Amino acid sequence: MSALSPPFPTHARVVIVGGGIVGNSVAYHLTKLGWRDVALLEQGTLSCGTTWHAAGLVGQLRSSINLTRLIRYSVDLYTGLEAETGQSTGWKRCGSISVARTAERMVQLKRNAAMANAFGVEAHVIGLEDAAARYPLMRTEDLVGAVWIPGDGKANPADVTQALARGARAGGARLLEGVKVTGVKVVNGAVAGVETSVGPIATEILVNCAGMWARELGRMSGVAIPLHACEHMYIVTQPIAGVSADLPVLRDPDGHIYVKEEVQGLLMGGFDPWAKPWGTDGIPDGFSFSTLKEDWEKFEVLMTNAVKRLPALERAEVRTFLNGPESFTPDNYFIMGEAPEVRRYYVGAGFSSGGIAAAGGAGRALAEWIVGDRPPMDLWPADIRRFAPFHADRRFLRERVSEIVGVHYHIAFPNRELTSGRGLRRSPLHDRLGERGASFGAKMGWERANWFAPAGVDPTPVYSFGRQNWFDYSAAEHRAAREAVALFDQTSFAKFRVDGADAEAALQRLCANDVAIAPGRIVYTAMLNEQGGFESDLTVTRLAADAYLVVTGAGQATRDLDWIRRHLPAGARATVTDVTDAFAVLGLMGPRSRDLLARVSGADLANRAFPFGASREIAIGRASLRASRITYVGELGWELYIPAASARDVYDALHEAGRDVGLRDAGYYAMETLRLEKAYRAWGREVTIEDTPWEAGLGFAVRLDKAAPFLGQEALRRRRDEPPTKRLLTFVLEDPAALPWGDEPILREGRVVGTVTSAGFGHTLGRGVAMGYVRHSGPIDQPYIDGGRFALDIAGERVSARAGLAAPYDPSGLRIRS
Ligand SMILES: Cc1cc2nc3c(=O)[nH]c(=O)nc-3n(C[C@H](O)[C@H](O)[C@H](O)COP(=O)(O)OP(=O)(O)OC[C@H]3O[C@@H](n4cnc5c(N)ncnc54)[C@H](O)[C@@H]3O)c2cc1C
Repeated sequence: MSALSPPFPTHARVVIVGGGIVGNSVAYHLTKLGWRDVALLEQGTLSCGTTWHAAGLVGQLRSSINLTRLIRYSVDLYTGLEAETGQSTGWKRCGSISVARTAERMVQLKRNAAMANAFGVEAHVIGLEDAAARYPLMRTEDLVGAVWIPGDGKANPADVTQALARGARAGGARLLEGVKVTGVKVVNGAVAGVETSVGPIATEILVNCAGMWARELGRMSGVAIPLHACEHMYIVTQPIAGVSADLPVLRDPDGHIYVKEEVQGLLMGGFDPWAKPWGTDGIPDGFSFSTLKEDWEKFEVLMTNAVKRLPALERAEVRTFLNGPESFTPDNYFIMGEAPEVRRYYVGAGFSSGGIAAAGGAGRALAEWIVGDRPPMDLWPADIRRFAPFHADRRFLRERVSEIVGVHYHIAFPNRELTSGRGLRRSPLHDRLGERGASFGAKMGWERANWFAPAGVDPTPVYSFGRQNWFDYSAAEHRAAREAVALFDQTSFAKFRVDGADAEAALQRLCANDVAIAPGRIVYTAMLNEQGGFESDLTVTRLAADAYLVVTGAGQATRDLDWIRRHLPAGARATVTDVTDAFAVLGLMGPRSRDLLARVSGADLANRAFPFGASREIAIGRASLRASRITYVGELGWELYIPAASARDVYDALHEAGRDVGLRDAGYYAMETLRLEKAYRAWGREVTIEDTPWEAGLGFAVRLDKAAPFLGQEALRRRRDEPPTKRLLTFVLEDPAALPWGDEPILREGRVVGTVTSAGFGHTLGRGVAMGYVRHSGPIDQPYIDGGRFALDIAGERVSARAGLAAPYDPSGLRIRS
């Protein structure tokens, strides 16, 4: 233990592991929330891990509004921290310029600028003359354009860390250096204490902010934290004429590089397309204020691009070559929140080269999460529950992070799929679909067919912001579902059995809809938190008096299982079992689905015998399976839950019998455009923890008056009569050539009133369709909608849109999934 450390405690209300910028920010913010009994343990000295050698760029824009909010808060914090603590942070608001070498990159920059402004971050699309004036050292003749964000800046990472530490100490936190956490004590599934190199500390709350060590620390207690280090390099030059502290940060993503001023020289680093993973077998003992070997060969691609952009670099003398490890996650978003495996075990790690920018906001959010025992806002993109244990596999991570580093500067084309670490989970139909030309994408480890290439067509996606190469094929699949019959492999659905004498009571408390239904019925329902926000939306099928099947989206599997498990009352005679892998699911959708299913099953599928919302055992060939009449595409159809071993037989039988009714395999892109036309909501986009069923337009799936009380009921009651000042609206674009992809700003009378949650091309309507929340100081009702002209900002172009409360396409009046 360091001589300067305070006395070693035997008990603390919270123990934070890791004295980097993130751990210190959590400690600082916990004390700001009034928690003084906070112990931070650092095995070396503060900032000795990754933090000390970070470049210190602080770029505010992220792909979600709440992640952007976190960084905006970091900027405010770093601006005022010196005045509060007396420790400088090196924060300088020098602005940033991002440049585009290609037209497609420029589309992305324009989209980013529009999104930034909608998120409250000032951003300007600027011409090359303006860019050159702001950055005189830059060669611009080969560029297409640029974006200027005046509020971006840079900070000194070690100084920010010390300032946060000083603030935390002033608030009562004990920061102990030279103390290594060697184990976490877990009792009854909850944190009970830590073992350290100095002695044990009893605690009920642990925060793992151990940077690239976090995965190993998590593994000790069975907590999966999918991150892996990669080498990250930059150089710093001696002073260069014309470089001053005011020089903006420069990003040239097509050249994979970033540049900032450092002591009147330039610091230049970047994200090369395939990075070098490091530390797969563990981080060496004593790795403190350490760096890795120079690798000029690997750096060459960055150097070549940098010299092209900044010719002055060619003659500059390199003062430092720094190669330091940083941890990256499988999707480039950081990892926050309470681990599903252990109660009160929190994680703040995997900052994927954005930890300096994010630490202020992430530390505050994590502190609020701990104090409030729930996330303070929708942080789903960063939530640890977006992963499953297999994501923490070292081989998978090693492969994936090598690609993910370069993704920082990829053009963010819609639907871009990663190519590494694939094939973690395959449906039993995977090979069949492959033979039929499936183009696969990955979700929660599952390989899923996105679209099908006809014979002779290459199923590799070709990305762009316009109509991608699959557009026409997916359109045909979409039409098959509307006009004939389409077959979707939906095996990736998460499926849970809830069994036991108290299964009904347990689910009644969790679900906002009434699930005290007869066996053989299905209910679409929300699971809400105490505030009335969505924890999930899912379907519940009653199998028997004491058995239910709960079906939810692939991406929600971990969080929904966690939520259900946590809320099973102690002593309840109810168990929940994940049966996802036991069943394949085929969605047979379209007006001819009844004919086809009747043909192969011989079952009576007439409306009277098999109404909407019914679920029955039927047989196809020798396979016994469950057919559920429900739809996510808005057509007559059945979801078939088939024992995995029989899936191929059933699939073949359907195809065999389906030839003359126009059966067609269809993928997830078609499902997306079908559901968008019907305005069916998707978890994580239209429904998040911040949205209530009233705001989401899903009030029909709530039974406020049901006999059993449910989570969120009181909040919903209170909010029922409030006029909706935030509401989900649907949009149909006037211009049939316009193509929205999601995240576009929504304008009413020229003013931004919201952002798009999901969008795509509605092939039945022949136009772009979208959904998004709109906010207004008064009620959002039909007069409000009729009283203004709406538009979406698509990469700087304003495209007029027809707004509405109802689904853009709804000839049958069918309601969502029930
Ligand atoms: C070359 C480079 C340039 C970068 N540039 C930028 C940039 O410009 N902008 C930006 O935002 N980000 C940048 N980053 C990323 C940024 O540095 C990291 O995201 C950030 O420092 C992560 O902070 P942390 O607190 O999570 O991790 P760390 O700083 O690594 O802190 C974790 C701490 O936990 C301690 N620890 C681990 N295990 C234990 C244990 N068992 N017991 C006790 N203590 C333990 C470690 O000793 C370490 O000090 C860069 C990274 C690199 C490598």
